Amino acid sequence: MVVLNYSFLIINSSFFIFNSSLSKMYDIQKIREDFPILSRTVYGKPLIYLDNGATTQKPKCVVDAIVDEYYSVNANVHRGVHFLSQQATNLHEASRETVRKFINARSTSEIIFTRGTTESINLVASSFTDAFMREGDEVIVSVMEHHSNIVSWQIQALRKGIVLKVIPMNDRGELLIDEYEKLFTPRTRLVSVAHVSNVLGTVNPVKRIADIAHAHNVPVLIDGAQGIPHIKVDVQDIDADFYVFSAHKIYGPTGIGVLYGKENLLDRMPPYQGGGEMIKNVSFEGTTFNELPFKFEAGTPDYVGSTAMAVALDYVSAVGIENIAVHEHELVDYAMRRMKEIPGMRIFGEAEHKSGVISFLVGDIHHFDMGTLLDRLGIAVRTGHHCAEPLMRRLGIEGTVRASFGMYNTREEVDALVAGIERVSRMFG
Ligand code: PMP
Repeated sequence: MVVLNYSFLIINSSFFIFNSSLSKMYDIQKIREDFPILSRTVYGKPLIYLDNGATTQKPKCVVDAIVDEYYSVNANVHRGVHFLSQQATNLHEASRETVRKFINARSTSEIIFTRGTTESINLVASSFTDAFMREGDEVIVSVMEHHSNIVSWQIQALRKGIVLKVIPMNDRGELLIDEYEKLFTPRTRLVSVAHVSNVLGTVNPVKRIADIAHAHNVPVLIDGAQGIPHIKVDVQDIDADFYVFSAHKIYGPTGIGVLYGKENLLDRMPPYQGGGEMIKNVSFEGTTFNELPFKFEAGTPDYVGSTAMAVALDYVSAVGIENIAVHEHELVDYAMRRMKEIPGMRIFGEAEHKSGVISFLVGDIHHFDMGTLLDRLGIAVRTGHHCAEPLMRRLGIEGTVRASFGMYNTREEVDALVAGIERVSRMFG
């Protein structure tokens, strides 16, 4: 068992040595070779995967980590005296440290493992509301939020009568900061906004948004689902009070994600769920809760998922998040330029700071038709409202086609996308 587990660590370390050269030169072919799925075909065509905003593909080291842990280490964490349980616990807690380092949190007490962005936001919505909000208190969100950062608060509105206020945007898809400042009242308790819009690709000025909120003594939650895969995140630099993300959008496994929260807030918030792990002592007379981060981690955690998430973050670090950001920025710039040459092209989201995502419509071709026909060419894009119906209403449309990019996408794939859109456009005359 030990030998197998050790070999798993060696696989990873050799991977680091191999990848350390990438910080000097972005070797896209080498990166692509790490993602086995990228060499498959669909409908006999090479797969062009441009749905990274929905989920990213996984490098081999991430899948290997899952297999290796189940084959060689598997045991429930935290409560076992036996060897395997301790080894599994060590891996799980080492993963927490990897996450801490990745986002530069002060302490692992501030890193809560959840099922993903959605659960992280729901946890804060429920627990923060219970701790700090009364009927009539206000939460500021923005018009470009994903449903998970709208509906979670609406549920609290139904439960406790809290009120949602909405930051508007301009036609380029940039939040109106002057209007944002006007939304604060003595009843404002939290600001909750996306780091990067999953539809427009807008990179919101989260540091400035946090500064303004803090000037009003109001904490800030940043939905980092689309930020963390594309941008270097430093929660202390942003001064985020909460920062949430999903592993599956940053080359990690599904079913696990993170809630970062400042200790002084998390300490004062009640548990979200009850169960094992989150308690100190239980009796029928009364129960005491565990310390952070375990207070918010009821039940058996996804300890294999946490290992695989850490491997994914290490993979990203080895390639270099700054290198990924430069590569993707060039790709999006190139794609925007090429796509704008297509007659009838409408691009939604022209913010000065844009990342990862291009949403578009061509003439009056329905987004669903465009997506379906691109798929037949082997090009995977997403169509629809992208879980952002209020934003669709603001844009006056029902949905878009969305191409979203990852570290492994290439200029040739952008060319294929443009050729595909042109072909579909010709079909529709
Ligand atoms: N927020 C944003 C901005 C997103 O893009 C997504 C996923 N599309 C989510 C939240 C929800 O993420 P998950 O489904 O992984 O919980």
